[in-house]
Amino acid sequence: MSEITAKIDEYYASLRGKAESRAERTLERALRDPEFSKVDREFQQARIAYFRAEASKEKNLSDYKSRFEALKTKRKEVLAELKLTEDDLTPHYQCAACHDTGFLGNGEACSCYRALVRKFKMEEIGISSVPYRSFQEADPKLTPYIPFVYYQKKYCDVFPKVPLSTVFSGGTGTGKTFLASCIANSLEQKGDSVIFLSAFALNRFFINCFEAQSYHSISLLSECDLLIIDDLGAEPVYKKITLEYLKLVLDERFAHKKPTVITTNLDREKILERYGERIYSRIFNEESLDDNNTFIGRDVRVDKR
Ligand SMILES: [Zn+2]
Repeated sequence: MSEITAKIDEYYASLRGKAESRAERTLERALRDPEFSKVDREFQQARIAYFRAEASKEKNLSDYKSRFEALKTKRKEVLAELKLTEDDLTPHYQCAACHDTGFLGNGEACSCYRALVRKFKMEEIGISSVPYRSFQEADPKLTPYIPFVYYQKKYCDVFPKVPLSTVFSGGTGTGKTFLASCIANSLEQKGDSVIFLSAFALNRFFINCFEAQSYHSISLLSECDLLIIDDLGAEPVYKKITLEYLKLVLDERFAHKKPTVITTNLDREKILERYGERIYSRIFNEESLDDNNTFIGRDVRVDKR
């Protein structure tokens, strides 16, 4: 078993443990009540009897059914007296799709499992993931400034049929990082593999690869469904490392038709000046101008005054 698989198993076991022990503790507490304990016992017996009757196609099945249902109602009532509901006795798994097992009923890996694999792989190469924001928490008052609806509907809903390159540019406070983070969240929930990292962390990662002369991990960046580079321009640029590796990643993504989102404070001229023609033409996808998607933000805080 690989180290990552072991870590994932441990992670899910602890999630399930938490969800199940909470429900079990509540049940134990409820069972200390003599009336509930009696009704619960009768209810469990009636339930088993009903299922058995059903399996063996008993003639008086409806009697079993009505006894089971009567006891179910009675149990609910007694629970209510204890200020509890059936829901309190049910484990609340973090992932409703796989009940924190990582796998769906058909044996396929759940999207939360795939996200976890990516998270651990990223951590292995020294990139810690950031908690994502969501479209639900987007302030409707900011909609005139930030095209939330557009990106939710015209980007996330149609992904991966989106432009290969999308640039959110504008100064601090334009909401570009927030928007990119919402996109990451929305796509990851749909099961797409997303890597969101700051240009600073990306550069650090490139330097580590360069120092270790290990290029294998770079494929994580070129193969994910969406790569989001946040705040391009905030990182120090080392010609032999930053520029070469960034070009390599962008080229590979283009070759495999994998979209990239970039947020930046820099305008087009500054990007050209800082990264050179080759990277510039990838970022702005000069080969197909229609295929570039740019949101130029206004400072939300200034306009709101
Ligand atoms: Zn899941």
